[in-house]
Amino acid sequence: MASLPKWINDAVENVLSSKFRECIITKVENISENLRKIQFKTDLEGIYFEPAYAIGIRINERDFRNYSPFNFNEKDGCFEVVFHVHNETAAGSSFISQLSENNTLKILIPRGKKFFNHEAKIHFSIGDETSLGTSLSIKEAAEESESVFVCLHELENPESLETLGLYGYHADKNDSMKIIEALTEFLQEEKQAVQNDEVVFYLTGNGQTMNIVRKFLKLKGVSPKCIKSQAYWIEGKKGL
Ligand SMILES: Cc1cc2nc3c(=O)[nH]c(=O)nc-3n(C[C@H](O)[C@H](O)[C@H](O)COP(=O)(O)OP(=O)(O)OC[C@H]3O[C@@H](n4cnc5c(N)ncnc54)[C@H](O)[C@@H]3O)c2cc1C
Repeated sequence: MASLPKWINDAVENVLSSKFRECIITKVENISENLRKIQFKTDLEGIYFEPAYAIGIRINERDFRNYSPFNFNEKDGCFEVVFHVHNETAAGSSFISQLSENNTLKILIPRGKKFFNHEAKIHFSIGDETSLGTSLSIKEAAEESESVFVCLHELENPESLETLGLYGYHADKNDSMKIIEALTEFLQEEKQAVQNDEVVFYLTGNGQTMNIVRKFLKLKGVSPKCIKSQAYWIEGKKGL
């Protein structure tokens, strides 16, 4: 999201006030040294949500950052987000690391492109720390439609997966070989389903890793229509 002068961001919040909600933080849990799970409460009546939709948080006068809600419950008016505090000197990370219970903040309601494919028999979410919320919302939707959920995360602390209830493949940071090995194993096991276009791969997180994964899947014959992707961060770029 582009960095804009304060007066423009203030005007957007006023003119588009129906797109913003005042939220209260009801729970903060440090999942690991650099992962914070935060629960928000607000009025969510009438707000449409799909897996991989993102909320916007204004982290200072000029900037918003995108984050992915999960456990989105319109009736109870609550949702959660897993934040990757990747570097406390970055504006978003710094803002998130200071949040605590009972703080209030205005959020831009969830929005995004259509990502989740309801027809798929197997949903495979691939990403990193920034993708954990998206994986959890895809997992929830897959379970609701009685289809299978699989995930692969590139993580510094793989124990976080168990804490979040996300069991699946994992690789160390920047270990592309491990990712390729895990995908090779999966593609062999699910050869028929892949050929029948019954598996949908959702790629999020680090844009560079996503490019490697996308190229590999296409090379292995996965149909481009079965690969959904959205970069969540790119080395050297601020706030996608
Ligand atoms: C649709 C969407 C959904 C997203 N959902 C989530 C989410 O649920 N949870 C979450 O934590 N993030 C999520 N992100 C990613 C998050 O918005 C970015 O990581 C954002 O850049 C963080 O802002 P910042 O101010 O901390 O860092 P910035 O100031 O934006 O970035 C500074 C530099 O840090 C590096 N950088 C940025 N992010 C990371 C990272 N995660 N790891 C390592 N280096 C990084 C880049 O080189 C960048 O140039 C999402 C992004 C999008 C587009």
